[in-house]
Amino acid sequence: MSVATAVGEAERPVLRIDSEAIERNAARIVERIDPEVVGVTKGVCGDPRVARAMLAGGAAGIADSRVANLARLREHVDCDLLLLRAPMCAECPAVVENATWSMESEAETLQALSAAAIGRELVHRVLLAIDVGDRREGILPEHFEEFLETAIDLPGIEVAGLATHVGSFAGVVPTRENVGRLVTLVERSEKRLGRRLPVVSGGSTNALALAAAGDLPERVTQLRVGEGILLGTNPATGEAIDGLETDAIELVAEVIESKEKPSAPEGERGRDAFGNEPAFEGRGVRRRAIVALGRLDCAVEALTPLREGIEVVGASSDHAVLDVADAPGSVEVGDRLAFRPGYAALARAAAAPYVAVEVG
Ligand SMILES: *Cc1c(COP(=O)(O)O)cnc(C)c1O
Repeated sequence: MSVATAVGEAERPVLRIDSEAIERNAARIVERIDPEVVGVTKGVCGDPRVARAMLAGGAAGIADSRVANLARLREHVDCDLLLLRAPMCAECPAVVENATWSMESEAETLQALSAAAIGRELVHRVLLAIDVGDRREGILPEHFEEFLETAIDLPGIEVAGLATHVGSFAGVVPTRENVGRLVTLVERSEKRLGRRLPVVSGGSTNALALAAAGDLPERVTQLRVGEGILLGTNPATGEAIDGLETDAIELVAEVIESKEKPSAPEGERGRDAFGNEPAFEGRGVRRRAIVALGRLDCAVEALTPLREGIEVVGASSDHAVLDVADAPGSVEVGDRLAFRPGYAALARAAAAPYVAVEVG
């Protein structure tokens, strides 16, 4: 965070997070479903203040994709911590020290975790990650048995459960059938181990609707929920989830230029700074504003301006260009404009060194 410390908060775009709204969203989700809810903080770069709000709302633990985030959380919150993304080899010592469980899909990583756990006289609990169709991480069901045997044989490793994730990569949605594939493997594992597995982690925000309708297999003990708690939206549809607050988080950026300009570019055109060939609608001369925020800070296309009549036209690494011609009142240099971030914008902004995070 070297850059961030060189400038004060007032000179940076600010991500404003209402921790009470986060707590209420967590509480409503916890109330609605049978499996326990683990709050996922990777969308807010593992911010411990947000983690505390999730726990206050009834989350049973916290999950994050980054080992560094878990290590910081371990210092600030007292709860079970789940590592969502398999670690790099060099991270394994930090994983056994900080994570209660980690999701794993490679024998090499299990071996590195085993070595790290033995060296510290610890037992590391793993959730074996199963790919039921999204084709990101996870063991294919047909290769599961061999992987289970590897895990069972390793000292310092305890199989605590199984986990699956769909949606993030290929957009596959959870169904009774694909979550059912997980449950089948849980049953086989339990037979082999001769004990009940404490954790069957059945999915993320996009599985909430199934869970609330009572359509998840009963054997699922846990869902890992990030976007639903933070933004109140369903990643599979982009729509608000009934009864959840969608205004817990906003991103505020300052206007650094405001001018009447032709909306169509002039001159021969090639690719833009990021290799794209954006199209622009010719709408005549319009008032345009530039905010001090760009693609380095967030996914600009995932921002919704909160002030009526403002539209995001495009962006480069450090500039976001807005059409403000239809905004009531004037938009002047120095004005601070608020946006509702979608998940991609939120996750990047929370991790960007140029963006301040304010949790109220
Ligand atoms: C990101 C992630 C989650 C949380 O997903 P949301 O859609 O934010 O609820 C859960 N599990 C894994 C493995 C993830 O990578």
